Amino acid sequence: MLRKGLHIKVGELKSDIAVLKDVEVTLGRIIEGPKPEEAGPTPFPSITDLRSWDLKLLERYKPFYMPFCDVCCLCTFGKCDLTGGKRGACGLDMASQQSRIVLLACCIGAATHIAHARHLVEHLIEKFGREHPIDVGGVNVEVEAPVTRLVCGVRPRTLGDLEDVLDYLESQVTHLLSATHTGQEGSNIDFESKVFHAGMIDQVGMEVADMAQISAYNFPKADPDAPLVDIGLGVVDATKPVIMVIGHNVPPAVEIVDYLQENGLYGMVEVTGLCCTAIDITRYNPKAKIVGPISWQLRYIRSGVPDVIVVDEQCIRADSLIEAQKVKAPLIAASPKNCLGLPDRTRDPAEEIVADLVSGKTPGALILDPEKVGEVAVRTAILVAPRRKKFKVIPDVKDVIEGSKRCKKCQDCRRACPNDLPIPEAVAEAAKGNLDKLGALYAECIGCARCESACPQGLPLHSFIVKA
Ligand code: SF4
Ligand code: SF4
Ligand code: SF4
Repeated sequence: MLRKGLHIKVGELKSDIAVLKDVEVTLGRIIEGPKPEEAGPTPFPSITDLRSWDLKLLERYKPFYMPFCDVCCLCTFGKCDLTGGKRGACGLDMASQQSRIVLLACCIGAATHIAHARHLVEHLIEKFGREHPIDVGGVNVEVEAPVTRLVCGVRPRTLGDLEDVLDYLESQVTHLLSATHTGQEGSNIDFESKVFHAGMIDQVGMEVADMAQISAYNFPKADPDAPLVDIGLGVVDATKPVIMVIGHNVPPAVEIVDYLQENGLYGMVEVTGLCCTAIDITRYNPKAKIVGPISWQLRYIRSGVPDVIVVDEQCIRADSLIEAQKVKAPLIAASPKNCLGLPDRTRDPAEEIVADLVSGKTPGALILDPEKVGEVAVRTAILVAPRRKKFKVIPDVKDVIEGSKRCKKCQDCRRACPNDLPIPEAVAEAAKGNLDKLGALYAECIGCARCESACPQGLPLHSFIVKA
């Protein structure tokens, strides 16, 4: 068990050899309990502790760059043209800029997972206490916390112990991010070494979050008989009020399930989700349903099945509120990282928020208290479901055919499509009444709706594909 620093102050200390006055002793960290395992040579490594090993790897596996952008716009000296061996105003060349962008992207990823872990651990400590034990499987797990122990050289035993690991991770993200500033790191190889470091601490952050939630919420632990769960849009009982949760932070979804159980409503409301929150809520309650991956957000919202949408953090479409409004489904934002421009209703009474959401006075609310999210989401879903009547914005076959007749054959949709799908050809067939080619696009469509944004005729092409 780790304890943070200890400070002892003694006014006067008499001994046989001397009298000492104003003695102060500070200990950085006290370790109590079982003898800690021996740490490796680089516990809690800094951004350069593993550099020599990184350089060996990068010497053997040399980085190769295919620039996806020719210019750098990261400071007000720019934009700088880096093509043909040119250097920017700060002296940076293309290889360094490419690796710098990769480091930035990795820092965003690491910061996101680590910040989520911090948010989750703080919430769980508030609810279960700092001394709540880390238990991810007991005898069924040979090495607990393998990533944390490998990187940090410590074995966390309580939720409170995870804070030490998070302190370290946060300091590393800050150092790494600072290396991307104009006039800092100038070597692409050293940027790549820092990318390795970012990837490493990212893994620790993810492990910290999962250990915390497995332990505190008693998720299945290395259990070969963990219950199987239903998956897919077809498993949702659309005759009931439906709550849809999207994101990566499970506490609001846990509170939804708890509210249903504590108020005798269990089984009367469907709890469904997309992405990691969906997977995690089924680890808490196997009756919850996983609708699909992040790419299904648009089609699920537009289907009109969800009556209330709860978004927390990560992998949430930026237009989720706009899409929710199209189907008249209130949206609750539950994370300070994703406020969506909504009014903060965290301190308002639940009944007032519910009344405003049900009446449509406000399309959504920011609620930063998971318990209140649970209550508001359930009560709103029950009241709003009979009013919405599963209002959807997926067009009918007739609408697809008539809409397709307005196509100007400009090819903009295909140019915008990340999968280069032959949308114009499919739309041309649909205009003749044959939706087969549109339907055939479904399997490769990732639901991004870039085709819709590009279409000068404003055709809802993703919805056409879903309908077909
Ligand atoms: S960071 Fe360097 S390369 Fe980028 S815009 Fe600024 S001066 Fe130009
Ligand atoms: S939504 Fe449109 S742009 Fe995106 S993958 Fe599907 S067809 Fe392509
Ligand atoms: S962007 Fe719209 S108008 Fe242009 S080809 Fe595609 S569907 Fe037709």
